[in-house]
Amino acid sequence: MLVNADFHVHSCFSSASSKDMLIKNMAPKSKLKGLQLLGTGDAFHPGWLDIIEQSTDYSGDGIYTCGDMDFVLTTEVEGKNRIHHLIIIPNMEIARELSDRLISKNKDTDGRPRTAYTGFELLELVREYDCLIGPAHAFTPWTGMYKSFDSIYDCYDKKPDFVELGLSADTFMADTVKELKDFPFLSNSDAHSPWPHRLGREFNAIELEDISFTSIKNAIKHRKIKANYGLIPNLGKYHMTACTKCFKIVDPIIARENKMRCSCGGIIKKGVDYRISEISDYGEPKHPDFRPDYIHLMPLAELISTVYGKGVTTKTVQGKWQRLIDSFQTEIDVLINVPVDEIEKVDSNIAPAIKAFREKSIDVVPGGGGQYGQILLNKEIKKRKVAKITTLDNF
Ligand SMILES: [Zn+2]
Ligand SMILES: [Zn+2]
Repeated sequence: MLVNADFHVHSCFSSASSKDMLIKNMAPKSKLKGLQLLGTGDAFHPGWLDIIEQSTDYSGDGIYTCGDMDFVLTTEVEGKNRIHHLIIIPNMEIARELSDRLISKNKDTDGRPRTAYTGFELLELVREYDCLIGPAHAFTPWTGMYKSFDSIYDCYDKKPDFVELGLSADTFMADTVKELKDFPFLSNSDAHSPWPHRLGREFNAIELEDISFTSIKNAIKHRKIKANYGLIPNLGKYHMTACTKCFKIVDPIIARENKMRCSCGGIIKKGVDYRISEISDYGEPKHPDFRPDYIHLMPLAELISTVYGKGVTTKTVQGKWQRLIDSFQTEIDVLINVPVDEIEKVDSNIAPAIKAFREKSIDVVPGGGGQYGQILLNKEIKKRKVAKITTLDNF
């Protein structure tokens, strides 16, 4: 069976996370996004594990069910050098035991525990318990593995189970790095809120025997990811090299010459686009035979928000989003599968935007420095502070 799964989200216990990130909200919202399987996130947090137990029925083999949504235990852990790792865990008992072993004190402070473990130490420890591990958002500048290492083996010593691409990268970018040719890629949302433009904004279509931890493990080990769905990397908030304070996009070479300092006084962060170019071995991607399609998405709610000129979480936008979902079941169907003339009958303003998205004629102001990219319709380019600059004098 082909299952749409998002393995990386955060609970209400993570910093900067919505208080609505509760199982009872996540379950119906992820269903509307077309998912069948969701990672719980934060599975080393005792309070969150209690909530998971109270909100779900155990379906056996590591699967916790709420309504008709299945959950598998996952967590992100911060290790040495502030590198983020994603871990998929066999069951509740193991999550509690690993939580005890990994986090000696202040277990309740953050859903994403901060530790001093190296990638190698974490890998060794969680493998004792049959967990799967890989770098989270591997190329991002603050907490991605490749910010500190030029090779994944320098971080883990051994081969981890997968690489999570992160919102600012896709298969086309990652497959320019030779050492990644044997790794399955995961595309996950890293959602901190249940809004439809966050939860399930990236996910994997994965071939499972049945919905169980054992099947998930086998599928990842045997590289049975059948498709990755994810944002156009330009929309990611670390795609381009940019200032973290004023968000100007800066040429990476000039940024380095200026010691990563912006004229506004802010710190410039290297973009994923440039970081991948530094570690790449090929000018063009070389996809291994097993590599599935990467299907580019943009959040439907953001598309609606752009068309109607209203905030993405306003009643107008959410109402129009809901109407489309009620008519066509899931967001993926609206974005990719449903004929445009059918959409036209439900919302004649959105239909041309969906058509433009499918024809790849939507423009994006790229994200960088922590600011998401913006969708632009009808080539109506609202000028962001600076599209691209060549010298600091242009600031
Ligand atoms: Zn992270
Ligand atoms: Zn600046």
